[in-house]
Amino acid sequence: DSMKSLATSKTRSKVSKLDVMAEYAKRHGDKDLLNLVVIGHVDAGKSTLMGHLLYQLGSVNKKTMHKYEQESKKLGKSSFAFAWVLDETEEERSRGVTMDVAQTRFETAKKIVTLLDAPGHKDFIPNMITGTSQADVAVLVINATRGEFETGFDAGGQTREHALLARSLGVGQIIVAVNKMDTVEWSQERYQLITKKLGQFLSRQAGFREGDVTFVPCSGLSGENLSKPPTVPELVSWYSPATTLVEQIDKLRPPVRPIDKPFRLNVSDVFSRVGSGFNVAGRVGSGFVQPGDKVFIMPAAMNATVKNVYIDDSAETVAFAGDHINMTLSGVDMVNVNIGSCLCDPAFPAKSATKIRAKIVIFSIDVPITKGFPVVFHYQSINEPAVIKRLLSQLNRNTGEVVKRKPRCLVKNSSASVEIELERSLCLELYTDFKDLGRFMLRSGGHTIAAGVVEEVFVVLTKII
Ligand code: GDP
Repeated sequence: DSMKSLATSKTRSKVSKLDVMAEYAKRHGDKDLLNLVVIGHVDAGKSTLMGHLLYQLGSVNKKTMHKYEQESKKLGKSSFAFAWVLDETEEERSRGVTMDVAQTRFETAKKIVTLLDAPGHKDFIPNMITGTSQADVAVLVINATRGEFETGFDAGGQTREHALLARSLGVGQIIVAVNKMDTVEWSQERYQLITKKLGQFLSRQAGFREGDVTFVPCSGLSGENLSKPPTVPELVSWYSPATTLVEQIDKLRPPVRPIDKPFRLNVSDVFSRVGSGFNVAGRVGSGFVQPGDKVFIMPAAMNATVKNVYIDDSAETVAFAGDHINMTLSGVDMVNVNIGSCLCDPAFPAKSATKIRAKIVIFSIDVPITKGFPVVFHYQSINEPAVIKRLLSQLNRNTGEVVKRKPRCLVKNSSASVEIELERSLCLELYTDFKDLGRFMLRSGGHTIAAGVVEEVFVVLTKII
């Protein structure tokens, strides 16, 4: 456990590890911190559902909601008002589409939830990967309308791909919101058909543990069964014991935060802020960070000092693994930090490489993967062109044992050890060191073809400071 002791003995910190744990407990009180991603087929009602939930929980004030209602009426799309709570840009409003991963926080009795609203359009899956790679848990929104659930679930629909992606990216617990139940008169039969089909898929194919999948019947539009017990007689008559969406969220297990590991932050945005200069945004991947800390920037291999740490625009004395933050940096020029750069503990710098060895699980593909296969490598907030350089071995999907050395090709639903070469040097971590930072996805021709974990990084750049 050399890494652990390194992080603990960190001299740059102004507080000892004990203080940090105490501060962590104080910050979050009895509440667990959760990053929640919303996934599902386009038009399943993701934005409406989450917008309405935020409204019920008091995260949106009446005045703002009224404004949204007026604006959407003017455009003749009044039912979009709730979705607008999340879709903030003008462009998205006029198109009625959620494009970027919007972030909002809300609190329940037991949780502080950062909501990552992932888009449902096919072209937007790269954004969805960004959102999901930051998530601990997922809400899968299903359209219960007759014919619509079937469309979303069958080949070509995004329900399956989203669920598979979420599981591959480390999401272990999932709540299925069986939405638009108002369109099927709250039919128990319809609900049972959907939960049965999805339950089988999620546990047998996507790999969720049965106890980690839960279902909730609801309507994002009317707000039924989101945060308040159901009142619609048709639903009340059969839904027992009644559990609201919020109650299901409260039941989720808190994720383990690697706050005792060395500091890592993968940069998802670089911007300048009026009055404070140069800022970066991202989710703290591991460890913690405080104003005054020295950080090392990879792959630029440069030092910088953290001037300020912000969570939701409020200046903080410390931010922990799992927090989405902005930081003001000094002592380094902005051109040295890009989206995808890694800010890390100088005593334990991140590795940067153009070549890795990885274990991959291949999804449903039409054309087998051969040596030299070009892919798009999705990692945290970035996607980069890459090539599957060598097929090292084919593995047993369940046990990981080598089935065949140097296979000529890899077919669908198989597992393999491969060497991947990236066009540009990236900061990557071993899965064994940092679970969340050691995962990636491979896409080709607009489809996600594989999920993988990093097993070896062939370092090209190290600089001792
Ligand atoms: P997204 O693409 O998944 O974010 O879906 P939206 O939230 O934009 O909703 C798509 C459409 O479905 C909009 O016209 C909504 O008003 C409608 N909608 C959303 N939730 C419900 C619901 O619970 N019941 C009904 N009847 N319509 C809904």
